[in-house]
Amino acid sequence: MRYRTLASLTGAGATIATLLVYWVARIAHARSFANINNCPACQSTDISPSLSPQPLDWIFRMFRCSPYRCQVCSNRYFRGEIRETVKRVLL
Ligand SMILES: [Zn+2]
Repeated sequence: MRYRTLASLTGAGATIATLLVYWVARIAHARSFANINNCPACQSTDISPSLSPQPLDWIFRMFRCSPYRCQVCSNRYFRGEIRETVKRVLL
């Protein structure tokens, strides 16, 4: 195996591993905010579901996370959906 091929494979593997860690961290962060109704950037409670779909939203939807936008700082973030059992207990 040539040095150039080995370097390319190593670079591609490192890139894929970095993207995987990045997405797992973002999904874990979104899931941890499942029951918190405020913006993670400015702590404002003036948030609403984001109506502009982004290309990679489907990855978060697979893990039951929805996009939200802060009306104060315009931060777009993901949050896990509140489970039905939690909703029943709260109501
Ligand atoms: Zn905010």
